[in-house]
Amino acid sequence: MIQRELHLPLLGFAAYSGTGKTTLLEALLPKLVEAGIRVGVLKHAHHDFDVDKPGKDSHRLRKAGASQMLISSRNRHALMTETPESEAEFDYLLTRFDAAKLDLILVEGCKNIAFPKIELHREEVGKPWLYPHDNNIVAIAADTKVDSPLPQININDLEGICQYILDYVADHNGAKQQSTEVQKPASSCCDIMSPAFLSVQEGQDKILSKVSSTEGIETLPVEKSYGRVLASNITSPIHVPQYTNSAMDGYAIRGDDLERDEYHVVGEILAGYSYDKPLQLGEAVKIMTGAPTPLNADTVVMREQATENGDTVTFGNALIKQGQNVRQAGEDLSKGQAVFSEGTRIESPEMGMLASLGFAQCDVQRPLRVAIFSTGDEVQAPGSEQKENTIYDSNRFTLIGLLERLGCEVIDFGILEDNQQVMIDALEKSAQQADLILTSGGVSVGDADYIKLALEQLGSIDFWRINMRPGRPLAFGHINDKPFFGLPGNPVAVMVSFINFVEPSIRKMQGQQDWLPLKVQAVASEPLRSRMGRTEFSRGVYSIDSQGQLKVSTTGKQGSGILRSMSEANCLIEVSPSVDTVKIGESVTIIPLQGRI
Ligand code: AMP
Ligand code: MG
Repeated sequence: MIQRELHLPLLGFAAYSGTGKTTLLEALLPKLVEAGIRVGVLKHAHHDFDVDKPGKDSHRLRKAGASQMLISSRNRHALMTETPESEAEFDYLLTRFDAAKLDLILVEGCKNIAFPKIELHREEVGKPWLYPHDNNIVAIAADTKVDSPLPQININDLEGICQYILDYVADHNGAKQQSTEVQKPASSCCDIMSPAFLSVQEGQDKILSKVSSTEGIETLPVEKSYGRVLASNITSPIHVPQYTNSAMDGYAIRGDDLERDEYHVVGEILAGYSYDKPLQLGEAVKIMTGAPTPLNADTVVMREQATENGDTVTFGNALIKQGQNVRQAGEDLSKGQAVFSEGTRIESPEMGMLASLGFAQCDVQRPLRVAIFSTGDEVQAPGSEQKENTIYDSNRFTLIGLLERLGCEVIDFGILEDNQQVMIDALEKSAQQADLILTSGGVSVGDADYIKLALEQLGSIDFWRINMRPGRPLAFGHINDKPFFGLPGNPVAVMVSFINFVEPSIRKMQGQQDWLPLKVQAVASEPLRSRMGRTEFSRGVYSIDSQGQLKVSTTGKQGSGILRSMSEANCLIEVSPSVDTVKIGESVTIIPLQGRI
């Protein structure tokens, strides 16, 4: 079942048009209200529907540009929100309800979204059944019986449908109470016990709560610091700029002396030099960009507006404002001002900034040491002729690239022999040398691989079933206090798990705080399918179409062994567990991969 933030029972009606959904809801609502249930209804409508009418004040204000319009009176209020770019997501819409004032949310429409629904069916409408293909159908209300274990109610039996809904609400409330009762002991004890399915987010949160930043700082020249993480806060030791200076090539004059026709040019200042006398009324100095303005000169007229005649200059009809074209000392940063905080990753702008403050060196976290292994009897090292029944080891090489990109020091343990004791020894040795251990392959449920047996011996490893594809299963735990990831064997699954779980952990271990990957919405240019209840990551290619819209399509066949799809992709397409089909033109989340793989 999908994890939703919502703590209210949610129930929908799935039916073809003509079945009488709205009529039935209209008849049900008074009965539910009479039974003391406070009902919210979410109805999906055609995209150009409007609650407003042309000519109404609210309509006029919206058309004039209000992107949100809240209209209220003694008896009701309504918030109209314009969403021209893309339709609001179902889960977001649910958060718009005031859950404290409701006992139940009924949904009409939203066919492609995964949540429990009653199928409504009338023979005379002549449409096919939905329940055989939709595992979100929890009950059937029809005018005929079918062979199904689902509860069945006559569609004309309002009392019966009402009772089903009341029981549904009561069940939900019972289950909710129970889950809060048992959750406390469960979360504080053993994850090693038979692991339940976790959502991607839950997996990330759990893993991140179990890794912490490593100790160890080193001092590096700024030019060697690219990609490293700052180990101390940086405050500015100087004013930037250090002195007030000209932003243009031109003439510096006094701001209290603008009315004059002609100025006497008393000197010329190049960048790196100064004019040491205070400027007098009637005087100008020729000045270059970046050169310090003389005392009293607070205004610069650009050279293009000036005409020089011998030792005088005129500015014609140029409109001159006091203070123009002058950069004040400390305007960008004043001495003592905070610049970067500890945990900032250093990239090109940071390198430039550090240098601009006069720093030749900086304190950074030492590189994270990551041990990697491949496992599996079928896995052969590249560089030798391919043996029968083998595949070349690609995972270790993909991991080396991913790790180097993150500034890690890789300790390569090669391919581990299928021998339990060899593996235990190697894992223990790696835990002495590395801050983090990664293996790939051999952690599938039911797999008799030695790595799994070895890990079980080592104690604190959990085998997690994360509700995602590709990327299941994932082992995570600690070997002698060093975090360990047992990644899946499939090459694409390795990368997808790395991006979702390993990279955030590495960044946290490196001291980078609260890092989150960039996610954006793009319009699907092909239909996407996903099994409801799990997060599906497809390899995608995004581009901007001729209308300037961000579009995304898949790289084609999505088998998790097809490493080439990862090379062709420039993003992952993330289809959330609540969605089962994304139609052409609908929006979908993408995770751009540029700079990450
Ligand atoms: P496993 O998780 O061990 O069942 O492996 C799943 C699939 O990934 C199998 O087809 C393996 O052959 C493949 N695989 C495992 N390790 C590697 C590796 N290091 N490089 C490439 N493919 C691998
Ligand atoms: Mg294997």
